[in-house]
Amino acid sequence: MKINYLKYFMTLTIIFIFGIKLNSQTKYYITAPRLFDGEVMHKDWALIIENNKIINVGPVEQLKVPEGSVKINYPNATILPGLIEGHSHLMLYPYNITDWDTQVLKEPDSYRTVRATVHAKNTLLAGFTTARDLGTEGAGYSDVSLKRAINEGIIIGPRLMVAGRAIVSTGSYGPKGYDSDQQIMLGAEPADGNDLIRVVRDQIGKGADFIKIYADYRWGINGEDRPSFTLDELKLINEVTKSSGRVMVCHAKSKEAIRRAVLAGAETIEHGDFIDVELGKLMKQYNVTYIPTISAVDVISQYRGWKKGVTDPPINVLNKRKSFKDAIASGVSIGMGGDVGVYPHGENVLEMELMVEYGLPVIDALKAATSINAKAFHIDDSLGYIKPGYIADIIAVEGDPSKNISDLKKVKFVMKEGIIYVSK
Ligand SMILES: [Zn+2]
Repeated sequence: MKINYLKYFMTLTIIFIFGIKLNSQTKYYITAPRLFDGEVMHKDWALIIENNKIINVGPVEQLKVPEGSVKINYPNATILPGLIEGHSHLMLYPYNITDWDTQVLKEPDSYRTVRATVHAKNTLLAGFTTARDLGTEGAGYSDVSLKRAINEGIIIGPRLMVAGRAIVSTGSYGPKGYDSDQQIMLGAEPADGNDLIRVVRDQIGKGADFIKIYADYRWGINGEDRPSFTLDELKLINEVTKSSGRVMVCHAKSKEAIRRAVLAGAETIEHGDFIDVELGKLMKQYNVTYIPTISAVDVISQYRGWKKGVTDPPINVLNKRKSFKDAIASGVSIGMGGDVGVYPHGENVLEMELMVEYGLPVIDALKAATSINAKAFHIDDSLGYIKPGYIADIIAVEGDPSKNISDLKKVKFVMKEGIIYVSK
């Protein structure tokens, strides 16, 4: 506990110092031996930032130090765009501390939101300057308020895109297993048929940036994942969502739910545990991005007793490895999102380590958390790359994450919209 407090005060000190510095100085010239621009790793490049924008980037010998700029050099580091977490639940924290049912049913939204402010801070300080949050799991629209507090500078955290409550079909979601005489509050909002029109519009009106659908759930006769909505229902949801300028994204693990979600117009498939080469190709054809959440499967298996590296992997881990390889082979665009919240916020890099462990080339894992996520979430005109004119979301990490992905955890520098939050 003492260490945590120390860390907290050190962070505050850093913010305080640089907060003052920023007032008097808003031009930076940053150099390191490596710079990853969102697609390509460059050697000995420099970067110029003024206020909240990237002004220029290129080889050191071609970029003059602008007058009055602060020079920052990291002699053994790599500069990257601020990372983008594609699948977080800031209102949740690890289930090995408190199980999901208890968090959803017993913890007041106010308590969960207070916790979420710390989760948001930890996410930003880990180098994730943007995050898409995939549902509050019973905490109403607390994510909308969390986003607002970050945008207003009241608390620190990543730039958020939020789902709000998310939508499930009647009967399909949890918490489950309680006396059916009781009305149990669910982790998402149930709706079916034409009522989906009203619920989608209601969620949009209350602040959802996109509509998150649970296209399947483990409610098969033997507890297997089965589709929860018909194709027509998914098409209806998508039509209403699209007309507001937003997008539909689908939790889908089973083959049939993935197929329906893609045909109905989902822009990202979350989890996709049973994706195969054929489905991957279908997703590619429809320009759908795959968000694998490998960590969720890997970590939950460990919570349930799997001793990774000691005992044989359970069937769901073996299955996830196989399906992820199939996804790679299909050529579908693979973004990064780990279902963080299942494991601690701030440890987001775990998903990228597992992507590499499960067979993705390291450079593709770096692209997934930068340019690919930016494209998938329609923010690639200003984020996910280091390019002139882009928002100054920049990080630096010790070492070379294109050789060792875990180097992403050695965070030296975090800047979001020109403001420095970490500088070591
Ligand atoms: Zn999730």
